[in-house]
Amino acid sequence: MELDTIAAISTPLGEGAIAIVRLSGEDAIQIADKLFKAPSNKRLTMVDSHTIHYGHIIDPATNAVVEEVMVSLMRGPKTFTREDVVEINCHGGIVTVNRVLQLIIQNGARLAEPGEFTKRAFLNGRIDLSQAEAVMDLIRAKTDRAMNVALGQMEGKLSKLVQRLRQEILETLAHVEVNIDYPEYDDVEEMTHQMLIEKASFVKDEISKLLQTSQQGKILREGLSTVIIGRPNVGKSSLLNSLVQENKAIVTDIPGTTRDVIEEYVNVRGVPLRLVDTAGIRETEDIVERIGVERSRKVLKEADLILLVLNFHEKLSEEDIQLFEAVKGMDIIVIVNKTDLEKRIDLDKVKELANGRPVVTTSLLEEQGIDELEEAISALFFKGNVQSGDLTYVSNSRHIALLTAAKTSIEDALVGIDAGVPIDIVQIDLTRCWEQLGEIIGDAVHESLIDQLFSQFCLGK
Ligand code: GDP
Ligand code: ZN
Repeated sequence: MELDTIAAISTPLGEGAIAIVRLSGEDAIQIADKLFKAPSNKRLTMVDSHTIHYGHIIDPATNAVVEEVMVSLMRGPKTFTREDVVEINCHGGIVTVNRVLQLIIQNGARLAEPGEFTKRAFLNGRIDLSQAEAVMDLIRAKTDRAMNVALGQMEGKLSKLVQRLRQEILETLAHVEVNIDYPEYDDVEEMTHQMLIEKASFVKDEISKLLQTSQQGKILREGLSTVIIGRPNVGKSSLLNSLVQENKAIVTDIPGTTRDVIEEYVNVRGVPLRLVDTAGIRETEDIVERIGVERSRKVLKEADLILLVLNFHEKLSEEDIQLFEAVKGMDIIVIVNKTDLEKRIDLDKVKELANGRPVVTTSLLEEQGIDELEEAISALFFKGNVQSGDLTYVSNSRHIALLTAAKTSIEDALVGIDAGVPIDIVQIDLTRCWEQLGEIIGDAVHESLIDQLFSQFCLGK
């Protein structure tokens, strides 16, 4: 594949005086060589791979020294993109770094698109599609836990599992093939039937397990959509402020979104909360007044978590009870606030209305009960799920769609086997499942590949 040479500033994560300009592609070394001057006058085109060189970047038009640099040179294919890669470490500020990048562009490289280095790694077969997607997720990861999911996926956890399942299906298909080729052997057919059920059930169970993690995975990636509701003056703004202050807000506004609902991200014990409509709470105090009944109903409906705030110092009102009605069947945490004041609320009645869902008492004024609230949020999110580092989360919607389709296919196969339909029909379902799983890791599907694999499996052929 012929790919042009790309370049970009790839500043390392975190603060640092050093910025790196990275080039990748066929002409990467040649372009860098045009601009680089070492004290010894050595040429980058002549040096060994995976070596680092001290020198200066010179503007070839004027011969002026632009920057003092360290240049790392790596020839493909032992690089991230599998292409020739040059990394220029600059010490100066952003202005000089940009100047270096400009010179590189002027001398034949193209500015890389976001994620394009990763895309190349995929195109050149260095990583599979799910790993490439994980790199993208990693860039966007909002909490440490989300980062771990992305890292795990990048290391190929999901890929390995998917490959294992595909292997199972392939072996099964090979046995089916044997059965078709040697129909006269009864015991082969026996085994095939038994094995088909076993293998197909195994694959189905594994896919189901993966899908079960998908909701959590999605939430880890996108945040738990959270809405704070309650009558005026119960402490909604205070709650929002306390959550934002205690837990570093991660994103205050999302560029590029056109929705008029303002969101704020906080990280509560590794659970990213996306606090929806914080403006409604901050400004008008009334979500319904601000965005209208229809929209507020929609916001409530789409929420993953509702924080319903009540006043400890006041009797339950008709409005409070209506709020409970509005969030029937949803994940809610009831917060009874202002415990520093005299108790006037009927807590037993509150618990009855909460109907088994958590009730936390707080005094936001005196910063009491916030730990318990955070504990409740975390417990709700990790409901009954042991937090295992081994768990492979599926968090990407494309993967979820493909896994769902693959599950349907394998279920179809199982139904077919059970009903005793001709084996070549079952074969079609199994093959489809194999293909759908393959799409997760970006495998092109070739009939010839299947043929080739069959030829290896088939006995005595
Ligand atoms: P909102 O209308 O629901 O957003 O309520 P606010 O957060 O704006 O709070 C209304 C008033 O109650 C403010 O004067 C707060 O300082 C006060 N407040 C909030 N939490 C507490 C608390 O735990 N105890 C007491 N005594 N006052 C509180
Ligand atoms: Zn308020």
